[in-house]
Amino acid sequence: MPTGSSSMSRRDLLSMIGTVAGSAAMYQAMTTLGFAQESPFTGSLKLDGDPKGASVLILGAGLAGMVAAYELRKAGYKVQILEYREVAGGRCWTIRGGDKYTELGGFEQECKFDEGQYLNPGPWRVPYHHHGVLHYAKEFGVEMQPFNQVNHNAYLHSSKAFDGKPQRFRHINADFNGHVAELLAKSTNQGGLDQAVSTEDREKLLDALRGWGALDKDYAYVKGVDSSERRGYRVDPGGGQMPVAEPSDPIGLSEIVQSGLWRNLSTGNLYEFQTAIFQPVGGMDMIAKGFEKEIGDLVTYNAKVIEIDQDDQGVTVHYVDSVTGGEPKTATADWCICTIPFSVLSQVKTKVSSEMQAAIDNLPYAASVKVGLQFKRRFWEEDEHIYGGITFTDLPNTLISYPSSEFFSKGKGVLLGAYSWGAWAMQFTSLPPEERVKKALEYGAQIHPQYNDEFDNGISIGWHRVPWTLGCYGTWSEDSRKAHYQAASSIDGRIAMAGEHISYIPAWQEGAILSGLDAISRLHQRVING
Ligand SMILES: Cc1cc2nc3c(=O)[nH]c(=O)nc-3n(C[C@H](O)[C@H](O)[C@H](O)COP(=O)(O)OP(=O)(O)OC[C@H]3O[C@@H](n4cnc5c(N)ncnc54)[C@H](O)[C@@H]3O)c2cc1C
Repeated sequence: MPTGSSSMSRRDLLSMIGTVAGSAAMYQAMTTLGFAQESPFTGSLKLDGDPKGASVLILGAGLAGMVAAYELRKAGYKVQILEYREVAGGRCWTIRGGDKYTELGGFEQECKFDEGQYLNPGPWRVPYHHHGVLHYAKEFGVEMQPFNQVNHNAYLHSSKAFDGKPQRFRHINADFNGHVAELLAKSTNQGGLDQAVSTEDREKLLDALRGWGALDKDYAYVKGVDSSERRGYRVDPGGGQMPVAEPSDPIGLSEIVQSGLWRNLSTGNLYEFQTAIFQPVGGMDMIAKGFEKEIGDLVTYNAKVIEIDQDDQGVTVHYVDSVTGGEPKTATADWCICTIPFSVLSQVKTKVSSEMQAAIDNLPYAASVKVGLQFKRRFWEEDEHIYGGITFTDLPNTLISYPSSEFFSKGKGVLLGAYSWGAWAMQFTSLPPEERVKKALEYGAQIHPQYNDEFDNGISIGWHRVPWTLGCYGTWSEDSRKAHYQAASSIDGRIAMAGEHISYIPAWQEGAILSGLDAISRLHQRVING
């Protein structure tokens, strides 16, 4: 952090990060700055006391709604859920071959992936400190496997540097660290850091810099065994009379600095992306299915809520069949937990206080898009030895993520070929789905020329065009949180809101789960205390 950064507001810092590093980095920073903290989840919820037959109507069968239903039923409540879709899970969603999806505006896509292949269009990774998600995954027997976030053999790519040639992460990482360590060592030796570093610490710091940066005995970062042990060799050590190992040539500091490739070096150091990270075996919706197995009998599917009313006695909700329309039906209960995203709820007539309505109306949702691409063979493994992890690029597809499962398997594989935010996401969805796939191919082929021969089929999800969420996640600003979060998270008469948007971990499933648990805990206190 440069001196004086403490006086910089979080918003200034975010906008600086957005300008310098692009929207993806800003999203990462947004979910990190101020929000990133270890989940306070401490284990199974205990709702002590008799609810005396009280009933709760839950709107939305995403993770927030389902965790609320699961725990409330256990505590003795009568529970019913109304869900817009034909399945539960909400954004916890996995697309497989044969699935059909129609977005806002009418574009319909059918996924053509082979059996066993899938795309997680929404959530795709679960950090080790998201204790709530991992607790329920364990409770429902959902098998988890490592998600590879950082792969030193994946690429960093800029269309404007190195003649557009992708660079291995390990090269940029080792060389950037090495050069910076050398500069710091020089500065230390020349007395440049005398004010900041005591004489006592100087030798230790030099030692540390040599170790950290792979410097030689003279504190220089040069071609040799030390640097090659980080960045890899030009000729790898072999056996018998194989060619003798040859160190590789580091890239110069100026080239790295000019290239901008340093921007994505530290992504994996962010709290949310640190090892260990997990994914459910077979797709993220395995978590949703775990919940659905428990409480699926409480859900009315294809039920689109169109009006929410309440008085002193209870809650009345009107809904229609989301596929066939028809006459509205009515559901009633003593209490309501509403997990409908505010992006949608702002269009539903809801009887709540003016403070709550202001909160509902003032939460913008982020735009994002994912494109899944199936290829005829796993060329990234076979040709380039990339097993999981992420390649970052300055092109509008933002990144390519390689599957963290089925390594070395023969046959087809699915890449996440684009995961874009903001204006780039809008650019993608301004095109029909098949054109979006073509764009992702055009960008990706600049990194992997094999795209041209190996492409099989693809699918795209633009979250701002998903009819039942109309956005990726609720983007609170510091100001809007101050103005509206308290009202949004308070029980309003007989209605409590829950979901990722009612949490300090937005855009994460953990936020949805914690919010659901918090809402029912407070509701339960109200019920028990009359
Ligand atoms: C692109 C993307 C990437 C993400 N990456 C990650 C990640 O890697 N890890 C992670 O943990 N999280 C991630 N998330 C965030 C995570 O998906 C959400 O935080 C979480 O799933 C939200 O759960 P929820 O219950 O709050 O909302 P939802 O899952 O949206 O549930 C709300 C439910 O309400 C229903 N509904 C909407 N309107 C109506 C209506 N009128 N009537 C009845 N029902 C209605 C919807 O169909 C839906 O089922 C990502 C999200 C996106 C979009």
